[in-house]
Amino acid sequence: MLVDIAQISNGLTNRIDLEMIIAQEEWAVSFQAFKLAGDASFSGMLLADENGVITITGHLNAHIVSQCARCLVSVPLDLVLPVDECFECIGQERQPDSDCYSYERSTIDLIPALRDTLVLSVPQRILCHETCKGICPECGVDLNKETCSCSKEGLKQDNPFSQLKELL
Ligand SMILES: [Zn+2]
Ligand SMILES: [Zn+2]
Repeated sequence: MLVDIAQISNGLTNRIDLEMIIAQEEWAVSFQAFKLAGDASFSGMLLADENGVITITGHLNAHIVSQCARCLVSVPLDLVLPVDECFECIGQERQPDSDCYSYERSTIDLIPALRDTLVLSVPQRILCHETCKGICPECGVDLNKETCSCSKEGLKQDNPFSQLKELL
C-alpha cells in the first residue's frame, strides 16, 4: 500500500487525508493468531513536521476471525484500532532512539505500520463468551454443549463403582 506523498516532499502541503481500503493480499503475510475476514480499511491522515518526519494518525477497521482460548471455536471480531505511528525519510539522520518506520522521497508504504498496529492490538486471549466452560481436558467434549463424567471428579469418591473400577 504505497501512498504518493509528492505533495508533502515538494512542500505543497504538510497534510494528506487518507481513506483507504486494504485488500487481504496487501498485508503480504499470513497472521498467526487470527485470520482476516475481508478487506480492512483505514481512515486518517498523514502530517509532516518541519524535519520531514511524517506522522500517521487515524483508525484501522479490520474484521478478523480468531479462536476461543478455552473451547477453540471460531470467534469473529470487528476491530477499530487507533493508529499513531511515524515515518522518517530514508537517508535522513535518524534520532538514536527513533522507533519510526522509514519512507522514500515521494512514496510511503503504510503496510508495515498498519500490520504492526494490528498484530499488537489483537487481544492475546479471545473468548467466545466470558463464561465459556472450555473443553474437558480428559475426554475433549465441549463443556458448553454437553457434560461428561470426568467433570464430576469430586463425586468419584462417593461412587462405590469407582473403587470397584480401581480393583479391576
Ligand atoms: Zn469458548
Ligand atoms: Zn470429560
